[in-house]
Amino acid sequence: MKEEEKISVSPVTPTFPEKLHVGRPNLGDRDRFLARVGDMFDRNWLTNNGPLVQELEQKLAEMLGVRHCIALCNATIALEITARALGLHGEVIVPSFTFVATAHSLQWQGITPVFADIDRKTQTLDPASVERMITPRTTGIIGVHVWGRPCHVEALQEIADRRNLKLIYDAAHAFGCSHGGKMIGRFGNAEVFSFHATKFFNTFEGGAVTTNDDELAEKIRLMKNFGFSGYDNVIYIGTNGKMTEICAAMGLTCLESLDNVIEINRRNYRSYIQGLAGLPGLHPVVYDEAEKCNFQYIVFEVDEAVAGISRDKLVEVLHSHNVMARRYFYPGCHRMEPYRSYFPHSHLLLPNTERLSETVMSLPNGTSVGVTEVGKICQIIRRAILGNV
Ligand SMILES: *Cc1c(COP(=O)(O)O)cnc(C)c1O
Repeated sequence: MKEEEKISVSPVTPTFPEKLHVGRPNLGDRDRFLARVGDMFDRNWLTNNGPLVQELEQKLAEMLGVRHCIALCNATIALEITARALGLHGEVIVPSFTFVATAHSLQWQGITPVFADIDRKTQTLDPASVERMITPRTTGIIGVHVWGRPCHVEALQEIADRRNLKLIYDAAHAFGCSHGGKMIGRFGNAEVFSFHATKFFNTFEGGAVTTNDDELAEKIRLMKNFGFSGYDNVIYIGTNGKMTEICAAMGLTCLESLDNVIEINRRNYRSYIQGLAGLPGLHPVVYDEAEKCNFQYIVFEVDEAVAGISRDKLVEVLHSHNVMARRYFYPGCHRMEPYRSYFPHSHLLLPNTERLSETVMSLPNGTSVGVTEVGKICQIIRRAILGNV
């Protein structure tokens, strides 16, 4: 009774006893995972296209409605291999508003990433900007389904077809999401997923390429295994991009609780939206609930002129209460090395990227976040914006 009174009379901003991070893993069932690991020990088959990797590939292909799914060691290598298998060279158009691996996967192999701007509303590649960046050296486009919200896939496909360019999607955020009722994974020449521990669905480290192109799938399978086609027979240049059995065991286990994770993510997402509704200058990234979504990313744009507090200051306040909000994607690939030195004036062509990388923040979500925590986080943000009301 007394405690309640105290709270209502003199509210204190809640602080979490331990740091609450963005991207804590969504773990599957421990016993199911350990049972799979037990079987793996019995088989003594740890990697090289083992039964767990094959089962995972099959399940994923089925779930996404795509002919081929090739499991790989991570999404960065998957992007590198896909770009190479598609014969990309010269210049490839990418957004700067993405995780730096999208650009690195190209630069790493001597392909120049050319940054196009994003659509202010969807935060994904702006087709008009893509079109402006095309030169005679351009061979492809990589779109990123940022936050799991699909790119302008029809417009990008139209450009790719008309200009004879390959089209890849970095779908690292978009596992379990759909566009026009079709699962992400079926668009462009190929799509690349990340199953990193911080992603919605994880295999510790891991990734996959999905495609309906038989020839491309075969090339990627060769490339991820040193170009081996059977014993002693190397027919292609390759690297080591294989997924291990223990990673596939984690993936198969996490798949079993995917619906539950989505349910928790959606519940948290709705609590955040509700808890922060009506705050001046705070704009949520909203999901189209008519489509399939993973609801993994809780993202807000902070308009300082209206909110009276900058994104950076708000993130600082959250950190001081142990809520480890993140500035995504800050500062944008074009302001990171080596791209900043290569293209010192690129920011002039990227006004929406510049603005969003200064105003977007991401909040904790996933199975380790409960509604009580969401409520407290909303309270911290409300106070930061409205003052000590
Ligand atoms: C996480 C991520 C990657 C890299 O994935 P890894 O599996 O860690 O290599 C690439 N692109 C985007 C957009 C990402 O979020």
